[in-house]
Amino acid sequence: MGNSKYRLPYDLHMHSCLSPCGDMDMTPNNIAGMCAVKELKIIALTDHNTGRNVPALLKTASEYGLIVIPGMELTTMEEVHVVCLFPEAENLLEFDRFVYEHLIKVRNRPEFFGEQVQMDENDEPVAEEPYLLINATDITFDGVHDLVQSFGGLAIPAHLDKSTTSLLSNLGFIPPDSKFTCAEIKDPERIDALKEEHPYLQGCRIITDSDAHNLADIAEPVRFLEFDTEEPSPAEILRLLETPDR
Ligand SMILES: [Zn+2]
Ligand SMILES: [Zn+2]
Repeated sequence: MGNSKYRLPYDLHMHSCLSPCGDMDMTPNNIAGMCAVKELKIIALTDHNTGRNVPALLKTASEYGLIVIPGMELTTMEEVHVVCLFPEAENLLEFDRFVYEHLIKVRNRPEFFGEQVQMDENDEPVAEEPYLLINATDITFDGVHDLVQSFGGLAIPAHLDKSTTSLLSNLGFIPPDSKFTCAEIKDPERIDALKEEHPYLQGCRIITDSDAHNLADIAEPVRFLEFDTEEPSPAEILRLLETPDR
């Protein structure tokens, strides 16, 4: 009895074969299987500007007891990457349609950028996306928090400490009127330094994910989120994520 907590290992940022840069081995079944082998519990698939491989992953991952948070890695107009997580696939797919309308449309050149394959739960290709998904959208960073929230989701600036495609690399600072309360960094050893340099982050929960583009790079079970239950719903997980650490 008492206040025992469940520490659930997570990885909330990875790419499937629908991202041009994602390895073709990153199929829904392979991702679910590898996450299970690595003994992760909470995962999110976050392809660039699309969520269309998430429904297949939801089906395959349930067999392994994994909790999948429907997700996408949005590219803003400033080429800032933002991990967007949603409580339900419906929220994500609605957001997917919105983002697709706002994607700057340039045809993909698979031989150069890589293939963009949408799959079903049997890893059968069902569509090849013709437009390059890593392109920017015309969605600005300053509106992204409220926008994602209007679809029921949570916006998390991605890999803040990355030298390209991050909020800090592309804007150079954290806009003081920002609203995000969760941010992702690549190198957890830099948390204290980053919080000192950017006091805004002191009011945030900081997470670290793999940003895996191939199966081997999916995270080991070394980072955890704590819950009162062993089976939190995606909505409960999002509520925890948007709550600062302290
Ligand atoms: Zn990114
Ligand atoms: Zn990524």
